[in-house]
Amino acid sequence: MPILKILTIHNNEKTLRQKSEEIVIDKIISCEMQNFFKNLEKTMRASDGIGLAAPQVGRLIRVIAVNTLATSSSVNGDKIEIFINPKILKKSLLTSTMEEGCLSIPGIFGKVKRHRKILVEYLNKQGEKIRQKFDKMPARILQHEIDHLDGVLFIDRILK
Ligand SMILES: [Zn+2]
Repeated sequence: MPILKILTIHNNEKTLRQKSEEIVIDKIISCEMQNFFKNLEKTMRASDGIGLAAPQVGRLIRVIAVNTLATSSSVNGDKIEIFINPKILKKSLLTSTMEEGCLSIPGIFGKVKRHRKILVEYLNKQGEKIRQKFDKMPARILQHEIDHLDGVLFIDRILK
């Protein structure tokens, strides 16, 4: 399985700023797409990332990979999950502020305010619809990665 090339704002801001499209179930279960999911996971692992969105590797589809075991202090193990067509259904009023970075924006870090808890609806790799609550680091990563699907980058949200 190949490791995919990660686009950066220095050479591909135009792609990173686009809105990605939803995928239909027939496509999700295709071999091509299943391979893409594996490659996305592998690329994220190889880059020591805790989240990676399909547009970051040049595919404008609503797919993200997230390490749902990540914690704020360190990576507490590894459970990379694929979220397809993710939607945030509910957000807590409580927020938290933490420094973020992005594999597509090397060398830049900044404090970003995010909702502390979210309820997400998405399809898994088998095309099954799932609703799940997330908090702490996974909630932050999901918000960062879902932003990528709308062409929004964390530098747009850095607190001044
Ligand atoms: Zn990012």
